[in-house]
Amino acid sequence: MKIGVLALQGAFREHLETLDAIGVEGVPVRLPEDLEGVSGLILPGGESTTMRHLIERWDLAGPILDLAATGAPLFGTCAGMIVLSREIVGGEAPVLPLLDVIVERNAFGRQLDSFEAELSVPVLGDTLVHAVFIRAPVIESVGADVDILGRLEDGRIVAVRERNVIATAFHPELAGETRFHRLVAAMASEHDDPGEGSGRRPHPTRRARNAT
Ligand code: GLN
Repeated sequence: MKIGVLALQGAFREHLETLDAIGVEGVPVRLPEDLEGVSGLILPGGESTTMRHLIERWDLAGPILDLAATGAPLFGTCAGMIVLSREIVGGEAPVLPLLDVIVERNAFGRQLDSFEAELSVPVLGDTLVHAVFIRAPVIESVGADVDILGRLEDGRIVAVRERNVIATAFHPELAGETRFHRLVAAMASEHDDPGEGSGRRPHPTRRARNAT
């Protein structure tokens, strides 16, 4: 199984290294053909305006939306979260409008350019996530189908999931945090081989158990 990492710009190397650290093959994605055979895609942090231009220039939007439509997991961090949002405060056009959220870029202003925080993200277990925020966005509001995975102490939303699409305002890959990548890898292998627990193609043993 291979997971693509959009490698147009930004902190893509750290995502490839994180995948390597958990024993998953990561593939840099620069052109539409690089998406062939990947079971998921990570969109890194960087600068979302630059990423937008490069996605347009290399005609990547259609193929990425097609991949998402198959149910393969997508995971965006920071600028990647902005790229996946359906609405951007200030009226910029969305890039890959997959997440039903309103996102605000550079939400922490100049005073607080970068900071770190310990976050509770219950889907990843009890151990807090060490979150690195760099000129980070926040999610202003979410649609009905969006799960909120994590908030700052003041309540601001910084991690979300809508079905197969996950996004964080922070950079787990810069803090040695591997659990998001493990979750994405588990979703990708489930997508490749829907078995027990998927509800899509029930595994024979599951059917048998449910029948009793
Ligand atoms: N501020 C950047 C943007 O708006 C995101 C920063 C990041 O990805 N670390 O695109």
